[in-house]
Amino acid sequence: MTTTDIDRLIQMLAKLPGLGPRSARRAALALINNPDAVMRPLAAALTAAAENVKACSACGNLDTIDPCAICTDTRRDAALICVVEQVGDLWALERGATYSGLYHVLGGVLSPLDGIGPDDLRIDSLVARAQDRGVTEIILATSATVDGRTTAHFIAERLEGSGAKITVLAHGIPVGGELDYLDDGTLAAALRDRHAV
Ligand SMILES: [Zn+2]
Repeated sequence: MTTTDIDRLIQMLAKLPGLGPRSARRAALALINNPDAVMRPLAAALTAAAENVKACSACGNLDTIDPCAICTDTRRDAALICVVEQVGDLWALERGATYSGLYHVLGGVLSPLDGIGPDDLRIDSLVARAQDRGVTEIILATSATVDGRTTAHFIAERLEGSGAKITVLAHGIPVGGELDYLDDGTLAAALRDRHAV
């Protein structure tokens, strides 16, 4: 490994969320010092993920199969669709282990400042799914941020007339709170106490 290789490794690691230059240097050293136990298995896992993981064409979840394992799990309640911003939010709800319906991952929130409009999110496909008579409730589980609430409001209007009940998560989610950062108990309570918009 040349100095350039090491610099490049550090630069790539520093692109990851939560890793600044200092943490990236520490991570690079941990990898270099553990080539067989950590570095090669990590490289193999990265390659496998890059080649095999894709977005579910139905819900937007990430998986190696399409439709994803959640969409194809017949034990789950297909009458419920929980709308989340990102796959990380889906993971947070799954950690809570109290929700057994399906999901719909938007891929972000409406944000005029960042130039993100309805066409940049999976909203049309959600409206299409909502037309299915088997769907009885759509839970809007966007963050309690300004953009998250705006997005939920916009989607609720688009879903009017779909026949499904539209609900939002209960309070208990701190204002400005992102789902992925909530403790699992708070998130589970907010989901249980959801109410109609
Ligand atoms: Zn899916």
